[in-house]
Order: sequence, then C-alpha cells, then structure tokens
Amino acid sequence: MAGRLDGKVAVITGGVSGIGLGTVELFVAEGAKVVAADIQDEKGSMLEQRFPGQVRYAHCDVTKDAEIEAAVKLAASEFGGLDVLFNNAGISDSMREIAEIDAERWGWIYDILVRGPALGMKHAAPLMVERGGGSIINTASIAGLQAGWGPIAYSSAKAAVIHMSRCAAAQLSPKNIRVNAICPGLIATSIFGASLGLPRAVADQMAALVAQNAAKAQPIPKPGLPDDIAQAALYLASDASAFVTGTHLVVDGGITVGSRHSWDQSGPSPF
Ligand code: NAD
Repeated sequence: MAGRLDGKVAVITGGVSGIGLGTVELFVAEGAKVVAADIQDEKGSMLEQRFPGQVRYAHCDVTKDAEIEAAVKLAASEFGGLDVLFNNAGISDSMREIAEIDAERWGWIYDILVRGPALGMKHAAPLMVERGGGSIINTASIAGLQAGWGPIAYSSAKAAVIHMSRCAAAQLSPKNIRVNAICPGLIATSIFGASLGLPRAVADQMAALVAQNAAKAQPIPKPGLPDDIAQAALYLASDASAFVTGTHLVVDGGITVGSRHSWDQSGPSPF
C-alpha cells in the first residue's frame, strides 16, 4: 500500500522527543523523508541511526535564526526539497502569578513558541514555492483557547500561534502553501516534568501520570499519546487536507468540551 507521504520531505522541530518524535516515526512509516531538528544531540544521532537514509538530525535551537535556516536547507540538500514544516519545538513554564512575571523568561518563552515558528515559516516558504506548494503545521495548545490550562506566558504565546497560523495561511495561499495549527490537550510527554526543572529521565516517568489523570475527566477516557497528535499532523501534512487552511485542529479527547462526569452516572462525581 502506498504511504500517505510518499515522496514528501518534512522538517519537524522538537523532533527527538514526545509529539515531535511520534510524528517523525509516523511520517517515516508513511513514506516521508524527515529532518528532525532539536537541541538534544544525543537523541538526535540515535534517531538518525534508527532510520538510516530516511531521517537526518539537525542541531537547531529555534531561538536562533541561522540554525533554523540551516535545518530547513538541510532538507533541500539532503532530500531534494521541502514539502512540510512541523513547527513543534516547545517548552512550558511553572505556573506563576502576574506579579511574578519575569521579563527575561517571558521573552525566552515567546522566542521559542512564537518567533521560532515565524522564522521557520520564513525560511521554509521559499523552498516550498520551488516544489509548487506545501503544508506548514504549528503546534499550539488548548491553553491558547481556554484560560487555566497553562502558565500565562505559555498560554498567550499559544494563542498567538493560532492567530499567526491564520495570518500566514492568508498570506501564503497564493503560493499554494497551507498553514494550520494543532491544539493538543494533555499528552503524555516529558514537557511537564521538564518545565519543573526535573531531569529528562524523571520527566519522562511523570508523563504517563499526567495523561492518566487527565483521562479521568476527558469525554474520551484514554490517556493522550504523542501518536494521537502525530495522526493529526499526518492529516494536515498529506493531500487529504488539500482544502484545509487557517484552521486549528483540537485534539484533546474532548476535554475542552466539558467533563465526562457531568454525563456519566455510573461512578461518583468528583464535584
Ligand atoms: P517534549 O518535551 O517531549 O518535546 C519538546 C521538544 O522540543 C524536546 O525534544 C526539546 O528538546 C525541544 N526543544 C525545546 N526547546 C527547544 C529549542 N529552543 N529549539 C529546538 N528544540 C527545542 O514535549 P511535547 O509535549 O512533545 O511538546 C511538543 C509541543 O507540543 C510543544 O510545542 C508543546 O508546547 C506542545 N504541547 C504539548 C502538550 C502536552 O500535553 N504534552 C499540550 C499542548 C501543546
């Protein structure tokens, strides 16, 4: 059976962990060649060894314009062009009061979550034009839609990502480039522990716990996994979404719709 991304080349930032890693694995299984761009070099070279000839790792800090440009250009030099950019690298923050906002940290979070994807689009678009078009996917969050799911800098940055995706969709449509955002709910990745400053290995262990707890309230009572988001990225990357641009796809087990407990009479209500 033909893969849904046969012949396509993708760059995935944050590609060695969590949602990004799950998307690298799925895209490769669907026939794509992938540049995984990240700052965890050891994991990156292990990924290259796992998928020889299909995945290249680029050390790329998305706060650095030149490193994003180099990662995007690696797709062209190594695999002949660029069709898909998944701007997915991210960090979180600890919850803090407005009175505790730290100007420097705020800027750093916005640099990673908003400016990084903007620069990614800047460098990717000209290469996509050479291929006759492409698809850009930006990872936002349910925190960008509703208050209360994340720290204020993170949440407002993710809201910016959703609107930036709409603006870019309108601007890039004459070039046949589609731009969409994905809003994940609570997904089992190391981001929660990492944002608390825990070592990555401990953060990885914490991941499952967070998603299992969320599953208790979600209308769809299964823990959210990286592959749930990768499947959404696959749809937006592939020609199946040829008529879709400027949207944000919420993939959250229904948690932003409301709690399952208001309908489920079979167990005790937590409220
Ligand atoms: P993760 O920690 O597993 O992966 C994030 C990756 O981004 C890591 O590999 C990390 O090294 C990389 N990264 C961090 N800073 C970087 C930088 N400056 N340059 C390049 N790479 C950098 O976490 P994840 O949950 O897979 O996060 C992926 C995206 O999903 C993020 O944008 C995050 O905000 C978003 N998201 C996650 C959840 C969730 O519940 N896990 C929910 C909503 C949105």
